[in-house]
Amino acid sequence: MPLEYPSKISLARLPTPLQPLDRLTEKHSTPHGGPRLWVKRDDLTESGMSGNKLRKLEFIAGAARERGCDTLITCGGIQSNHCRTTALVGAKLGLRVQLILRGEHSGAADGNLLVDQLAGASCAFYPPREYFSRQAELFDYWRDFYEQRGHRALCIPTGASDGLGIWGYISGTEELLSDCKAAGFEPEQIICATGSGGTQAGLTLGCHLVGAETRVTGFAVCDSAEYFYDKVREDVADWASSYSGGFDPAALDISVNADYIGPGYAIAEEPVYRTIAEVANLEGVLLDPVYTGKAFHGLLQELHRGQYRHCENLVFVHTGGHFGLFPHREHFGFLQ
Ligand SMILES: *Cc1c(COP(=O)(O)O)cnc(C)c1O
Repeated sequence: MPLEYPSKISLARLPTPLQPLDRLTEKHSTPHGGPRLWVKRDDLTESGMSGNKLRKLEFIAGAARERGCDTLITCGGIQSNHCRTTALVGAKLGLRVQLILRGEHSGAADGNLLVDQLAGASCAFYPPREYFSRQAELFDYWRDFYEQRGHRALCIPTGASDGLGIWGYISGTEELLSDCKAAGFEPEQIICATGSGGTQAGLTLGCHLVGAETRVTGFAVCDSAEYFYDKVREDVADWASSYSGGFDPAALDISVNADYIGPGYAIAEEPVYRTIAEVANLEGVLLDPVYTGKAFHGLLQELHRGQYRHCENLVFVHTGGHFGLFPHREHFGFLQ
């Protein structure tokens, strides 16, 4: 049964490439063999708007247009890739963007925040405690603020992860599996970094809906495995309530690895920075320390533990994050 997608605005350059990582595969081959490693280059969805959030925002932007909204409101950390992508999408479509940002900011903006400013987004900064405890109120405040001035705002949740946003990765799954088919295989394993759960939810649901036998594992970069089991189910339940009444999220095989979070969200230890350098050096691919570097580091550890010895092909979804690399420059002292 073909899926009935809601309307979207095309912003991403699709399909993104699927590429083999043969130098890494060779370097990390183990006595029991192991899978050929592939990367789905969703860091190449666009240049400024690069990364996984763009696939979700295509559907969110479609809804904004249908609902006659002229303003987007969303939230995230100061180095949020999602906020940066929303800021640029808003600029491109002529929509106002209000960002609710977690953390303090002083001095010159760097990385994603610099891009937010270049795109002309309005930024409001909140200390982490207030950001988390008053998040719903902050959204209400800013929505009312714009409505009182004659605008109509669409509120986008963290990471654009909800029943609408996950269409981005249901569609991304169809694309990825068709790339694999063209390359002559069906992957046994797909791996992505998981932060707000939507990418993992879309991939897991997408594989289920098309009847693929592929296992999707999210490598957590924050929170706990329980958090992601619940969050993926919640996003899928939200999707089902609007688009597929009878679907039971309990039917999904959700797989989370929360063993490589390290000290916490956006805080990494040296092995992660070394993995980023290794992948750049062997494959010419740039990972980031917050999401993809951490997840890829976890993937390599699990590979050496024999976790994927029964897989022939493993696809890592490169979800982007380049702009978040440079604010971590001081952690690369070992390169000198
Ligand atoms: C947001 C993000 C993720 C996580 O995706 P979610 O859908 O929020 O779980 C992974 N990688 C990068 C680079 C991201 O910006």
